[in-house]
Amino acid sequence: MAEFTLELNDDQKQVRDWLHGFAAEVIRPAASEWDEREETPWPVIQEAAKVGIYSLDFYAQQFFDPTGLGIPMAMEELFWGDAGIALSIVGTGLAAVGVLANGTEEQIGTWIPQMYGDADDVKVAAFCSSEPDAGSDVASMRTRAVYDEAKDEWVLNGTKTWATNGGIANVHVVVAVVDPELGSKGHASFIVPPATPGLSQGQKFKKHGIRASHTAEVVLEDVRVPGHCLLGGKEKLDERLARARERAKSGGERVKNAAMATFEASRPAVGAMAVGTARAAYEVALDYAKTRTQFGRPIIDNQGIAFQLADMRTQIDAARLLVWRASWMASAGKPFTAAEGSMSKLYASETAKTVTAQAVQILGGNGFTREYPVERMHRDAAIYTIFEGTSEIQRLVIARTLSGMPIR
Ligand SMILES: Cc1cc2nc3c(=O)[nH]c(=O)nc-3n(C[C@H](O)[C@H](O)[C@H](O)COP(=O)(O)OP(=O)(O)OC[C@H]3O[C@@H](n4cnc5c(N)ncnc54)[C@H](O)[C@@H]3O)c2cc1C
Repeated sequence: MAEFTLELNDDQKQVRDWLHGFAAEVIRPAASEWDEREETPWPVIQEAAKVGIYSLDFYAQQFFDPTGLGIPMAMEELFWGDAGIALSIVGTGLAAVGVLANGTEEQIGTWIPQMYGDADDVKVAAFCSSEPDAGSDVASMRTRAVYDEAKDEWVLNGTKTWATNGGIANVHVVVAVVDPELGSKGHASFIVPPATPGLSQGQKFKKHGIRASHTAEVVLEDVRVPGHCLLGGKEKLDERLARARERAKSGGERVKNAAMATFEASRPAVGAMAVGTARAAYEVALDYAKTRTQFGRPIIDNQGIAFQLADMRTQIDAARLLVWRASWMASAGKPFTAAEGSMSKLYASETAKTVTAQAVQILGGNGFTREYPVERMHRDAAIYTIFEGTSEIQRLVIARTLSGMPIR
C-alpha cells in the first residue's frame, strides 16, 4: 500500500498539469457558448478523445492509481474548466463504471469500447436508474425486465428520467426490476445495445445549470435485449436473488449496512467535481477583489470581503481533504464506518453552493451577468446537492451509519 502523504507524486503532478492545461485552453473558453446552446459539446469531446482524456484507458489509469487520488484530481481539474462540458466528457465514464462494477470480462470488453467510440467518431453512454416516481427512493422503481426463456431475451418496459446522455447514447445501461417482491435487492442492470428498437428519447430537459450536459427521459417499450446483455450473467443474478429471498424470509437487511460500499466509493468523485467548480469561482472572486476599486482602494482591503475569501478557501480545502480521505479509503479497501464517502460529497457539494454564491456577491453587478463566469458556476453548483444522492439522503446515510438506527 502507498505510504500516506498529501503530496502528489511527480506522475500525478504531470497528469494534473496536463488536465489543467486542457481545462484552461479548451474547456473554459468554450464554456459560455455551450451553456447558451444547451447542447452536447461534441467538438470538445472529440478534442478530449484526440488527446486521450476521453477514453477508458485514461479513466482506468486514474481509477487504479494506488493512492486513490487519480480520479478526484482529474475530476477537480476538468470541472474547474466547466461543469457542463466536463460532465459531457466524464458522463460516459459513469456508465462505464456500472459495467466495470457488475459486468463479466466479456461484457466489459464488448461494450465499453462502444460507449466511447473513437476520436474520429466519438460516442457517449448513459446510465439510466432514476424514474419519475423513483428518485431518492430507488426501491420504488417500476421499469420491469422479464425473461423470455424461449428466446433467451430480456424484455424491458418503463420510463427512465434524468438520464445524462439519455437517448443520444450509443450504449444505455438500464437498471430494472426483475423481482418486485425484493425491493432494491430485486434490481438488475442491462446493456441496451446501439439502435435497439423500442428505446427512444422522451423529454429533453431545459436546465438551471450544467446546460452543456444533455439530460433526458428514456422510454423503453418492449425493448428486447439478448440474454448476454444482463450485467454479470443469469447464473450470478439467480444466486443473488436466492440469497435476497432467504434474507427477506429471516427478517430482512439490517440498518448497519446503510453506507453501501459502492456508493461510498463513487461519491467522492462527485465531491471532487464540486471542489473544481468551487475553486474556479473562488479564483475569479479573489482576482476581482484585488483589482476592483471602490472608495479609493481595492475591495479586498475591506475585512468584509477578505474574510469571505478566507472562509471560501478554507471550506474548499476542507472539502478536498474529505474527498481525498474517502478516495484513499476506497482504494486502500478501508471500511466506511462513518459513511466517509457520503460525508465528502455532502460537504463538498454544499461548499460549492455557498462559495459560488459568495463569488457572485463579491463581483457585485458583474457577478449577476453572463459577462463573468461566476454566474454560470453558481447555476452549475446547484446540481451537486441533487444528483448521486441529495444532501438530505447523504445526511440520512451518515446518520444511519453512525447510529445504527433506522432514521427517517
Ligand atoms: C442534471 C441531472 C442529471 C442526472 N443524471 C442522472 C443519470 O445520469 N442517471 C440517473 O439514473 N439519474 C440521474 N439524475 C437523477 C438524480 O440522481 C435524482 O434527481 C436524485 O436522486 C433526486 O431524485 P428526485 O429528483 O426524484 O428527487 P426526490 O427524491 O423527489 O427528492 C425531492 C426532495 O425531497 C428530499 N427527500 C427525499 N426523500 C427524503 C428523505 N427520506 N428524507 C429527507 N429528505 C428527502 C430530497 O433530498 C429532495 O430535496 C440526474 C439528475 C439531474 C438533475
